[in-house]
Amino acid sequence: MKDLSNEQMIHIKDGNIEYLQFKRLLEYKDKINHCYTLKGNNQDYKEVQSDNYSSLYKSLNLNYEKFTKIDYQAHSDIIEKVNNNKERFTNIDGLITDKKGISLSLRFADCTPILFYDPIKNVIGNIHSGWRGTIQKIGQKGLIKMIEEYGCNKEDIICCIGPCIEKCHFEVGEDVKEIFKKTFSNSVDEELFISKPIIKENEKKYFIDTTIINKKLLEQIGINPENIIISNICTVCNKEQIHSYRAEKEKSGRNTAIIGLI
Ligand SMILES: [Zn+2]
Repeated sequence: MKDLSNEQMIHIKDGNIEYLQFKRLLEYKDKINHCYTLKGNNQDYKEVQSDNYSSLYKSLNLNYEKFTKIDYQAHSDIIEKVNNNKERFTNIDGLITDKKGISLSLRFADCTPILFYDPIKNVIGNIHSGWRGTIQKIGQKGLIKMIEEYGCNKEDIICCIGPCIEKCHFEVGEDVKEIFKKTFSNSVDEELFISKPIIKENEKKYFIDTTIINKKLLEQIGINPENIIISNICTVCNKEQIHSYRAEKEKSGRNTAIIGLI
């Protein structure tokens, strides 16, 4: 299988386990660990009890007993604080915590994972920003919650935008294009995130760049652009190695993004 490493990401193969990591977050390996799983290990919550999943945690040096997940991610803009590993969450799309030993685990198939880390306050966040979440500016809301709940300084927070359906494949019709245009054209240069139309079966189609929108949203809060890291990996382009809903429809599995405090 192709090595997906690039300037920002490193592709790890540990036995039958494969995942991507942000080089920038690996600078803090004594405090946190993280990953975005690849098909190589076929991770999914369906297999949450399997050896494979605990080996993943072992490979990451994270505590498998203390992982927190969201039972159902609802494309909302709701983010919750995690205080201990006994809590259950559903119908939300983001988790933040400052509790050592806890990891935050969310599922993705084309939607954008955004991982946050404040190395000064030692606070982490994991956000599910699909296109509906992006429209609701969930990335901004996650940061605001970290600042309000844990006293994080925006200057310190590192934001990592993970693999997702990139502009090359995120084709939408007039209706979705209009929602993006209405929501963001006041604050982001429209030419940056909406392509010129193409005609397909007599209908106009557009390509939307949600990564650039998410980056701009983080910058608008006051995040230092140097602290915004973009994976530059499209899930559809790499469908042999990454689960993609657009490429595989209902058959699609999920990739898991994990960030945890050691
Ligand atoms: Zn693509």
